[in-house]
Amino acid sequence: MAEVLQPYPWQAPLWQGLIARHRAGQLPHALLLSGPQGMGKRHFAESLARALLCEQPQEEGSACGQCRACLLMQAGSHPDWLLVEPEEGKQGIGIDQIRALIRFQSLTSQYGKRRVVLLDPAEGINHAAANALLKTLEEPSGETLLMLRSDRPSALLPTVRSRCQQQLFRPLIGLDPASRQWLQQQLGEGVDSQQLDALLLASGGRPLAVLSMVQQEELPLRQRCLEGLAELHAGQASAVAMAAEWEAFELRRILAILYSLLADMIRLQLVPQQDGLANPLLRKHLQALAEKVDLAFLDTLLQRVQARFSLLQGQVKPQVMLEELLLAWQQRRV
Ligand SMILES: [Zn+2]
Repeated sequence: MAEVLQPYPWQAPLWQGLIARHRAGQLPHALLLSGPQGMGKRHFAESLARALLCEQPQEEGSACGQCRACLLMQAGSHPDWLLVEPEEGKQGIGIDQIRALIRFQSLTSQYGKRRVVLLDPAEGINHAAANALLKTLEEPSGETLLMLRSDRPSALLPTVRSRCQQQLFRPLIGLDPASRQWLQQQLGEGVDSQQLDALLLASGGRPLAVLSMVQQEELPLRQRCLEGLAELHAGQASAVAMAAEWEAFELRRILAILYSLLADMIRLQLVPQQDGLANPLLRKHLQALAEKVDLAFLDTLLQRVQARFSLLQGQVKPQVMLEELLLAWQQRRV
């Protein structure tokens, strides 16, 4: 039996809309799945492809996971499915790949359903390839669904964008019960409901970003950095030794972590019940350390971290820049 792919709970409205239109025979021929990273667009696209090719889809529209089509999809060898990604070592999707796509979609379906193509990421299609793709978008063959996934739809040619129907994966403002339950299951018991809300806020409303904040090595590294700061503050460690240890990580990443920890300590000093922390899971430790450090000093250090950031090829994250400005505003001084 193949794995049954279902859309994530927060994708239910988009999913139901598309399944209803599919059943009514009104699916557009090209969909642009757009929205920030961390919303699960790729997963959605693969779930939809499986659903459309499945021989006995389930009631809510997703694939059965058992039929011949589902098994072929699982094996990555369904003849009516084409995934177009940048080839290894290449930046974008090239014109030869688009030509292959055009040949693919001109054939009739092998299994009598339709053909499904996913271009991922769509902003990786180079200019010549995008122009070749335009022809296909203008004169679609009836039975092919073309999906384009993009984190940055503004980077696409406007002519490509306008020929697709856009499905926007908006960041979440809050969690519906099903999405909350799903995330809670993934995160385990270490994260309570209130912390989950704080993490969603810190991730900019992107549920899969919440998972990577907690599950990957990101949280332990942040924890380690904060412990390091506490040890230095208590005179239990050497700054030189710690700098040598931290050197193993990318400087940009460490600076970003330092920035977020210092900014959180400032936030906690200003408003102890603050909701909008960048590191909500470290709140207790941040609070304990923040109480021992002078606000003016934290502020000066934060500015110094910011200045070091600017030195890194002059590429400052807009969010970092904004935070600095807003914090300056909130504290009424620069
Ligand atoms: Zn099936």
